[in-house]
Amino acid sequence: MKRTSSLLQYNNMRFLCDQMLGTLAKWLRLLGFNTFYVNNEMEDSELLQIAKKEKRIIVTRDKELFIRGKKQNLKVIKITSTDLDVQLIHVLNGIRINEEAIFSRCSLCNTLVKKIEKGEIKDKVPEKIYKYNKIFWLCPKCDKIYWMGSHYNKIITKINEIKNND
Ligand SMILES: [Zn+2]
Repeated sequence: MKRTSSLLQYNNMRFLCDQMLGTLAKWLRLLGFNTFYVNNEMEDSELLQIAKKEKRIIVTRDKELFIRGKKQNLKVIKITSTDLDVQLIHVLNGIRINEEAIFSRCSLCNTLVKKIEKGEIKDKVPEKIYKYNKIFWLCPKCDKIYWMGSHYNKIITKINEIKNND
């Protein structure tokens, strides 16, 4: 789970998910992808601008946004399924997922997380979690703590599912 900048570049695709795709956005972040999640108040024109400026691939369920993005020569992926696995397979089709980049990003706010000394989070996680885990990460922005627990295994399982679908 050691991370270097060169490893992170594996997952150098950036996404922008529309407001209907919150769960997908969360999962893309967990897999290490820089993912902007659109909040309700944003106008389509505003998010098209962000996608253009930050070279993000737009992932949307909105037909109108899809058409507008295409017209501006942006990369747009149109999602039709409401099933998370199908959505992930669709978006990540052909993209290599770097297992080293998993947990490099906060799933809530997209910030890069930092490895933290175990002692520093002693009172912040349940006792059992503290006892059975060695490596912890902290989001410097929202203070969420991550560890290689069952969630990590869930992600690995999902990645393997996606790979098997290639
Ligand atoms: Zn965060």
